[in-house]
Formats: sequence, structure tokens, C-alpha cells
Amino acid sequence: LFITFEGGEGAGKSTVLQAVAEQLQQKGHCVDTTREPGGVALAEKIRYYLLDDQTIEVEARTEALLFAAARRQHLIERILPGLKDGKIVLCDRFVDSSIAYQGAARGIGVEEVRQINDFAIQGRMPDITLLFDLPVEVGQARIHGNARETNRLDDEKVDFHLTVRKAYLELASQNNERYRIINAEAPIRSVIEEVTQVIEDFIVN
Ligand code: C5P
Repeated sequence: LFITFEGGEGAGKSTVLQAVAEQLQQKGHCVDTTREPGGVALAEKIRYYLLDDQTIEVEARTEALLFAAARRQHLIERILPGLKDGKIVLCDRFVDSSIAYQGAARGIGVEEVRQINDFAIQGRMPDITLLFDLPVEVGQARIHGNARETNRLDDEKVDFHLTVRKAYLELASQNNERYRIINAEAPIRSVIEEVTQVIEDFIVN
């Protein structure tokens, strides 16, 4: 069972992912938790160049290709073997992040980004995608600690996150079999409970 966690920043998906993994393990399921970009050595190195190294410039399409390359290696080296062993693989971000961030928000184009990712993953889409949805200002306030900080964010940054959110909601409406929209504004405990329930219901049915 391959499950991806998607959403904008400050949605709490990484925290929820770890807590849900523990719940599932306690109930006897075999779980692997991983993240993108990253999850295997090569992809973690690519992550470093994409997200942490402030000394290099990465052009938008180069960035999209590097995300897709990291994703393929992660899929081949970790996700597919885990699924073959019967694990529930919980992955923090996957293809839909690239569509929302590189395709929509960076403006490369959703179709272009979908194409390079089709090449990378050869049709292995998640069984369930959980979209942690919340208003941009709420997510930003969580990241920056208080609501006043958000007022100082420049419009460009807010627009970027608004585009990310819109792109995700569009993906969810186009793929409603695969998607579950989670209200990420709700208290963390109830989000963890809801997500665990969604996964268990899927396993039973
Ligand atoms: O999951 P997390 O929020 O930690 O992601 C780290 C960062 O990577 C995010 O701030 C997001 O902007 C960026 N990212 C991206 N494109 C992706 C995946 C992540 O720009 N495909």
C-alpha cells in the first residue's frame, strides 16, 4: 500500500505522518516512512543541492528534472522493494508536489512536469494521496510563529503559496478516487486519528 502525504507548508503533514506510522505499527502493520526529495542516498544528495545549498543557482526546468531524477531513484531503491515486501509505505511528498510547485507555482506548466514524471515513475502512482489542506495564511503563521509575521511576507511569496494550494485542490478534484482531502486546520490529534482511519478503511475494503 503506497500512500503519499501532500500539501503546502505548515500543514503539519510530516508530524502527522510519523504519528500515523506509530499507530499503524502498534496495530501490527509493517510500515516504512520516507520523504521526497530524499529517502535514499542519491536522492538525499540531490535534496541538499535543491533545498539547502545556498551557493548554487538552479534553473526552473533543471530543478524539475532533478526532483524527477531523485524520485525515480527513491522509487526503484526503496518504495518498490518496500511494497514488494508487503509494507505500507508512507511518503512525505511525491509527483503531485512537483505538479503543484514546479508545474503550477514555478510556472513550467502542469503538463510538462507530468510528462517528465511519467518518464520517471512509469505509472506507479500512489494508492491513496492525502491532501493536507489549509488556508495559506494559517500555514504561514504556523511556520513563522505568529500571525503578525505573515503580514510582512511579500505578496509574491503569498501568491506562490496560493497557486500551490489551488493546484493541489485541482489535482484532488481530477483524481477523486485516489485523493482524500484532510482539513489540516483541525487539531493535530484529530487529524492523526482521521488519517489512521482512512488508511485502515482502505485496507479493509
Ligand atoms: O515537505 P517540506 O515542506 O519539508 O518540503 C520542503 C520544501 O521543498 C518545501 O518548502 C517546498 O517548497 C519544496 N519543494 C518543492 N518542490 C517539490 C517538493 C518540495 O519546491 N517537488
